[in-house]
Amino acid sequence: MSYEGEMLKKLAMPAKKDVEQALLKTLFNHNGTIKEFATGEEIVDELADLFFLNEEQRQAVLERIYRKENRVVRTPLWHRLLYRAADSLAKEKLITRPTITAQLTNRKEWMLTEDGYDKTLELLKIPTNQKEFLSIKSFEVQKLVNKAKNIQNPEIYDPFDNHRIKKTVTRELSLRSRVFRQVVIESYDYRCSVCGLKINSPDKKYWEVEAAHIVPHSARGKDDIWNGVALCRMHHWAFDVGWFSLTDDFKILISPKYEGISDNYGKIVNFDFLNNAIVPNKHIFLPEIKSLSPHKISIKWHRENILHK
Ligand SMILES: [Zn+2]
Repeated sequence: MSYEGEMLKKLAMPAKKDVEQALLKTLFNHNGTIKEFATGEEIVDELADLFFLNEEQRQAVLERIYRKENRVVRTPLWHRLLYRAADSLAKEKLITRPTITAQLTNRKEWMLTEDGYDKTLELLKIPTNQKEFLSIKSFEVQKLVNKAKNIQNPEIYDPFDNHRIKKTVTRELSLRSRVFRQVVIESYDYRCSVCGLKINSPDKKYWEVEAAHIVPHSARGKDDIWNGVALCRMHHWAFDVGWFSLTDDFKILISPKYEGISDNYGKIVNFDFLNNAIVPNKHIFLPEIKSLSPHKISIKWHRENILHK
């Protein structure tokens, strides 16, 4: 047995397979990314806590002699075990290495791939359809989100997806709708463009805000940023049923039908959920990158076909 193997055994360190599973679960709990393992990084302790490692196990150091340079290299045994487990997951293409992730995010982190994400959901017994709602990004989604944010706003835009055929949700279709959702809510900084509400679940895994289609799927609307707007659930519903729409310069246009609405409708105590958030001439909140705002052709279609006049 190697010197390292002997030390692992002597200190009764966790098995590599168990560390691999713990890494996947920890990635899931950290929205899909964790930092490189280095001394002083919280993630190293967090993982050690999961295995209830004692001080001796945490402090154990491997000493290896670099003959060429004639020096001794000391590596914490726990870091090395974490690295070896992560390395195996990377070889299986379940996570990406920090050098690869950094090309996308400029941060040196391990990141879940789509396969790793699926495997983790399986481990945690979470149905895969939850992917539509969870705020965890995979390497593939991040890559497509970056790409989507860098495409110029087209002058002539067709909000209809003429190739959309109704069929069972394929992996490609699911990825596309998750990229749509992610790019929309990220561009609007996770807030409702009408009322500004920004909130996630206590475990940080779900955002309240939704990516609304302007030309809806039922009318074969496209899954791209120019046919999308971030809305809280209430405003999403009100937008879909035609209580309000948008002008070409992104001001709220309320259906005239709202005038005649019963007094105790549409209120949360005294908060009038359509009118109150909408001061006359007030614009909706738009993405910081202006070219990611809804396309005029999409909102014109919504005004003409969805808004109740
Ligand atoms: Zn809202």
